[in-house]
Amino acid sequence: MRQLQHVDIAVIGAGPAGLAAAAAARSAGAAVIIIERDDRAGGILNQCIHDGFGLQRFDCALTGGEYAHIDELACRDAGVELLTDTYVSSIERTESGFALHTMTTGLISVITAAAVILAMGCRERTAGAISLPGTRPAGIYTAGTAQRLTNMQNIMTGSRFLIIGSGDIGLIMARRVTLEGGSVAAVTEIQPYPGGLDRNIRQCLTDFSIPLYLETGIVEILGTDRVTGALIAPVGRDGLLDTTRSTHIPCDTILLSVGLIPENELTRSLDAVMDPVTGGPAVDEHLMTSVPGLFACGNVLQVHDVVDLVSQEAAHAGTCAAAYLRGERAEKRKTITLQAGEGIRYVLPQSMSAQGSTLLSCRVRKPMEDVTIQIRSGSELIYRQQLPYVQPSEMIQIPLDLSETAADTSVEVHCVRT
Ligand SMILES: Cc1cc2nc3c(=O)[nH]c(=O)nc-3n(C[C@H](O)[C@H](O)[C@H](O)COP(=O)(O)OP(=O)(O)OC[C@H]3O[C@@H](n4cnc5c(N)ncnc54)[C@H](O)[C@@H]3O)c2cc1C
Repeated sequence: MRQLQHVDIAVIGAGPAGLAAAAAARSAGAAVIIIERDDRAGGILNQCIHDGFGLQRFDCALTGGEYAHIDELACRDAGVELLTDTYVSSIERTESGFALHTMTTGLISVITAAAVILAMGCRERTAGAISLPGTRPAGIYTAGTAQRLTNMQNIMTGSRFLIIGSGDIGLIMARRVTLEGGSVAAVTEIQPYPGGLDRNIRQCLTDFSIPLYLETGIVEILGTDRVTGALIAPVGRDGLLDTTRSTHIPCDTILLSVGLIPENELTRSLDAVMDPVTGGPAVDEHLMTSVPGLFACGNVLQVHDVVDLVSQEAAHAGTCAAAYLRGERAEKRKTITLQAGEGIRYVLPQSMSAQGSTLLSCRVRKPMEDVTIQIRSGSELIYRQQLPYVQPSEMIQIPLDLSETAADTSVEVHCVRT
């Protein structure tokens, strides 16, 4: 066992969230360590060799690696300690904060910290999660695994692809394998609308003439040793797949892009209150969980669509964690719960103090045109904004200030037709 190390703030994960949180906490005066299981910082961005990152934050299109490199340099310049090849296997509360049990090759250590920022990102849903019918021949990958193999290990996973699910990673991989000389027969989506961003539909499918079949599911995967094809079918009026109208798609590889699951095993082990819709912990406006001194940001908190918002959210978590250590929490006021109302799937943060302010994030349940976002407390209308179009794949952010309102128990966010 290595000697125990103590820091003010331990950040778990060196993806864009962990890096931004650490830099912000360090520049607010805290001694910070980032613990990363991979051999380098950057998280998922390391496998994203396409550009499009940093458009909002830097006003230019960077690759994932370039974006992460800027934040890693900022951390190193600021004096953040970065521990790579180190896995946080468990975490427990102590009298003075937290004890993190870490593993590097052949070495188990304990790092104690007064506060912890969770930035472990998320993992992909697999074939098991969607009860994929048929056999399990070789040639079935999650889109992120295929992305890692193609971009980091130069391994092309197949030549003729079918992509199930229209999440952003699947769309990006449709373009990627096409550029590498493969062909994509189709992308299928069980919902009546795409799961990914409009810009990815245009740039990754339309520009390469790759068809997107909405309201279409997979009936059977074909092949014994290797995938030889799949049967797909449209959703019928009864909501089930209409197998009488199934189509055979010849392919040797199937990529799954069917959703992401925030990596919250450590969070749950601390009995933090979880939000069943986001899959992440419930937080207040300081991004602190129900466990005092435990903060969360990035994809472990809510799955984001653009990394710029991950960095923005994480920097806020870092600043708040440092303020928490200085004892600068606002005096205890009444807690307001923030709730998803009509047309809204979830709202984050889930609570905030009365008369406080926050940058609220939410997602709608389905695509809608000409809507009004309303924030209400009982009969009081606190905020309204008209939007021409909303869709679940695009997070909506609203600066919410309760200082002028009488709201003192709960606030609901609604999305209604204008
Ligand atoms: C598979 C996949 C592919 C993606 N591809 C794209 C893309 O092509 N384009 C795009 O715009 N966006 C993509 N995204 C989304 C984008 O990368 C994320 O929005 C962003 O990386 C989230 O940042 P994060 O720091 O929250 O998480 P991550 O980038 O996932 O970073 C989390 C870090 O935590 C570390 N970690 C987790 N658990 C532990 C532990 N117990 N101990 C130590 N370290 C730990 C991980 O190793 C990782 O480095 C992808 C996401 C995924 C999951």
